[in-house]
Order: sequence, then structure tokens, then C-alpha cells
Amino acid sequence: MFNFIRTEKQYTKADREKMARAPGRPHGRVAGGWVSDLVSLGKAVVLCGMCQKKFKAKSCGYEVRRLMPDKPYVIGECDGCGNTTRDGQLYMKRQEK
Ligand SMILES: [Zn+2]
Repeated sequence: MFNFIRTEKQYTKADREKMARAPGRPHGRVAGGWVSDLVSLGKAVVLCGMCQKKFKAKSCGYEVRRLMPDKPYVIGECDGCGNTTRDGQLYMKRQEK
């Protein structure tokens, strides 16, 4: 006869924060298709300096947003190439006025 002992894994605070993060672009997904998916869902898009040139924000109904008035850039993971960027720009859906 077998007895199974189940133990709960002890998650640290860092483990829980890592699990809560958005998974990002799936492996094998083309960057342009991933950004197009985000745009079609109306989600925020962060792009690095290189990927900003390829994104036509106006034609997608998007505009550049600043989180703070004196800081034009955001730090984060680029949705296009996946690299961490310090001079990224945040694009959000244009609000109708
Ligand atoms: Zn990029």
C-alpha cells in the first residue's frame, strides 16, 4: 500500500510577484502580430526606440501618453522586441473628446 504525502509549496513574495506579471509575447509569436493583438484589445503598448519607428500610432487610434509630465519616457519591457528599455514610450488608445 502506498501513502502519498502532499506538501504545499512555500511561495515567497518574489515568487508571487513573478506569477502575477503578464506573461508577455508567447514563444514563436511574431512581434508585429503581438502588438496588433494588444491594439485590437485596446491595451497599453510599451515600445522601445527601435520599435517605435515601426508602429503607426495614429492609424491605429493610439497616442503617446506620459505617466509624469516631466518624464517623457517609461522604463519597462518592450512589447515589440521584448527587451527591457529605459527610453520606451507608452501608447494608449486615443480618448475621444
Ligand atoms: Zn522593442
